[in-house]
Amino acid sequence: MSLFDFFRARSTDNPKPELWQFKHWQVRVIRSLRRKTLGLELKPHQPIIVRTNKSTTRNEIEKILEQKQRWLEKNLEKLNSLPRTQRRELKEGEKIHFLGETFSLRKSVTPLKSAFLVRTESHINFLMPQEMLQEPLTPKMVHQILRQFYLREARKYLPLLLKEIAQQTGLQPKKLRVGYMSSRWGSCSSKGTISLNSKIMAAPSWVIESVIVHELCHLRHMNHSKEYWKLANSLFPRHQEADQWLHDHLS
Ligand SMILES: [Zn+2]
Repeated sequence: MSLFDFFRARSTDNPKPELWQFKHWQVRVIRSLRRKTLGLELKPHQPIIVRTNKSTTRNEIEKILEQKQRWLEKNLEKLNSLPRTQRRELKEGEKIHFLGETFSLRKSVTPLKSAFLVRTESHINFLMPQEMLQEPLTPKMVHQILRQFYLREARKYLPLLLKEIAQQTGLQPKKLRVGYMSSRWGSCSSKGTISLNSKIMAAPSWVIESVIVHELCHLRHMNHSKEYWKLANSLFPRHQEADQWLHDHLS
């Protein structure tokens, strides 16, 4: 291959998808030069994704799909039976999860300049400035409003709960950080700082306790060794159940 060919080959190596119909499925083929094997990817309510190299023909791909038909049927049915992830809109009566309970949303107007959520005994009030009533909220605004709500509540609730658990277990962190994290519930640094994700406020308190105990145990063992789990299990036997709850409800 000359240098020129090399660059030309590279420049055509962007994955431009092809979309076909195969039986009752849509198939999206994404090709890349370096790919050696053919891979299938399934997502709910979306075309089947086939990743392959430049030279595989449509015929060859269809032959493979044919061979995998039963596997595809079974797994797509399973995936498509899952509810589509609900898009939040902050509408009157919408359900908001807080400490494992479901609150319904009530809208009202505030003279203040920005929109926010406030919790009462029985409801979560959505207060918004008059001028915002006309225009629909963008998904980004919805995300921000919810994020602020959980963060404010988390900063009140989590330090007290952590203090209580630290006293009970004798595992004392140096510092607590509460913030929004996109991919984990908590972490523990080698300097003894525990970080907790404010999104955890949607979960019931026993699940939050489990996350806190998990991180506190890392003050003793900075790994997930046998010794670590021995300690974690002795302090909080329901942690597996709690992980399952998080997986089923918040991930
Ligand atoms: Zn861990």
